[in-house]
Order: sequence, then C-alpha cells, then structure tokens
Amino acid sequence: MTTIGIIGAGQMGAGIAQVAAQSGHRVLLTDVSLDRAETAKAGIAKRLARAVEKDQIAQGDADAALDRIEPQGDYAAFADAGIAIEAATEREEIKRAIFAEVGKALGPDAILATNTSSIPITRLAQTAPDPARFMGVHFFNPVPVMKPIELIRGLATSDATVARVEAFANGLGKTVVHANDAPGFIVNRVLLPLLNEAIFALGEGVANVRDIDTAVSLGLNHPMGPLTLADFIGLDTCLEIARVLHEGTGDPKFRPAPLLVKYVEAGWLGRKTGRGFYDYSGAEPVPTR
Ligand code: NAD
Repeated sequence: MTTIGIIGAGQMGAGIAQVAAQSGHRVLLTDVSLDRAETAKAGIAKRLARAVEKDQIAQGDADAALDRIEPQGDYAAFADAGIAIEAATEREEIKRAIFAEVGKALGPDAILATNTSSIPITRLAQTAPDPARFMGVHFFNPVPVMKPIELIRGLATSDATVARVEAFANGLGKTVVHANDAPGFIVNRVLLPLLNEAIFALGEGVANVRDIDTAVSLGLNHPMGPLTLADFIGLDTCLEIARVLHEGTGDPKFRPAPLLVKYVEAGWLGRKTGRGFYDYSGAEPVPTR
C-alpha cells in the first residue's frame, strides 16, 4: 500500500483515485478547493454503487475503497505520499504552478508524475521538485475501464523512478507501454489527427454530426464515432493536444480545425459541460449540427 496524492479531481483524477483506492492504496484527493475534491469523491461513490448494483464488485470492497479516499483542501498531507499524480487542467502554467506548490510538501523520496496528454515531460520537469523523480504517467478515459498506461520518461528521469511507477501501474491491473517524450506520445499522436479531421469535415459541410460518427464508427469498426469521442475526451483537452502537436512538430497537418477552436471559445466542451457536438441535456445525446 502506497499513499497516492492526486492533484485535480476531474474526469481523470477521480478515475485514477477510484482505481488506486480499489487496488488498496490510500488516496489523498485535491482540486482547487476541498469542496471540489469532496464532490469528486461523491461522484466516485455513485460509480462504485453502480458497479455493486451490476454485481461487478462486492459492497464491502466498494465501501473499503471509498474509505481509502481522503479529500484534502491543501497539500499538507502530501508529506506522506509515495507518488503524487497531477491530473489538473491541460494548461502548462497551471501545471507549473501546481508543481512549485506541491513540491514544498512532498518528501525527499516521493515521485511526482503528470497525466498530461501532450505537454513535453522534460520541459515540465524544470518546475518539478526533482527532475530525476518526475515522469509522465498517461492514463486513458474512463480510467476504471481503459487498460493502457503510457509511461514517459523525461531526459532526467531516473531508472528507479520508472521502475517504481511501472510497479504501481502494473499493480492497478493496467497494461504498461513505454513512449519517448515526443509530442502526443503514442496514442494521441495517432488519434488527434482523426478527431481533428472529423471536425474539419463537419466544419466544411461534408456531412452532419450523426453521419460522420456513423460512417467512421461502422466503416472503421471503431466502438464510437470521432465526434462522440472528442466530446467524451473534452474539446478543450482535444484543442490543447492539437496545439501541442502543431507547435511541437511544426507540421501543419496538426493545425486545429477552426470549428474546434470556436466550440472551445463558446464553452461547448463536450459531455462535461452538457454540450459539444451533441447536446447532453436530455436522456439521449442529440446532434447539434
Ligand atoms: P477535467 O477538466 O475533467 O479536470 C481537471 C480538474 O483540474 C478540474 O477539476 C479542475 O478544477 C482541476 N484544477 C484546475 N486547476 C487546478 C489547480 N491549480 N489545482 C488543482 N486542481 C486544479 O480534465 P481531465 O479530462 O480530467 O484532464 C486532466 C488531465 O488529464 C489533463 O492534463 C488532460 O490532458 C489529461 N488527460 C485527459 C484525458 C481525457 O480523455 N480527458 C485522457 C488522458 C489524460
């Protein structure tokens, strides 16, 4: 059992907290306020209750997992953490400010890992308390369901750090892959051009939302269409990843679709805000274009 500190209790942070707690770890969960961390814990409680209803886990195991999650209003308790995982909003200045703050609380052996989808690990390491004990640990959404974890080492990451994080990731029952610190790592490097192109096609009037999703999902045998998936990931996150790929490679093939930029400017960020390429206010998602 390790104490795991989690910073950012949104979709990913809450998912990581749930999986870590279900694997027997004590979890310190933080966000911008204690309130937000407590709300995230309430969301995890609901998901665990649903898993109990569906006979996926026993009531006793769900209760024990929930008891291991401790919402926090600051980083003081992070002095106990063996590994801290940052899963806050995908903006470099936010992550840098967090590292400076959390670095004051972490012990001398603690590892700081980031769940960034796209920001270079070596660059982020500059603000980490110790670049040798810093690396990328890229989970997939929804964390309790998705198998892979991409591990990304920065230039200064030590072998011991990689070994400890790999042991932790394997202990969660996940499948570990190693990626170099290149923009988008493996999966987003391949995925983002697909999502972005679907949004270009929508913006250019090639087809409507439903037809793009139906065609790509059935035609490529994907479990869901690219616009549904973009809404699920969060359009702000998609835009940030597209920008990092574009700036990181200098390759115009990664330029973000203008319609993606517009949706993010409108605050239509997908499922998490109730509207993206679909409207989620009713029982079933309704295409908006
Ligand atoms: P989200 O918007 O659901 O959650 C982000 C959380 O960070 C919010 O609860 C926000 O309040 C919190 N936050 C913002 N500033 C903070 C601060 N200073 N201190 C503490 N918390 C702060 O986003 P998400 O989808 O959970 O993404 C989080 C991270 O995970 C991003 O780096 C993203 O790129 C990465 N990621 C996302 C996905 C995905 O599919 N959504 C997959 C893999 C990795």
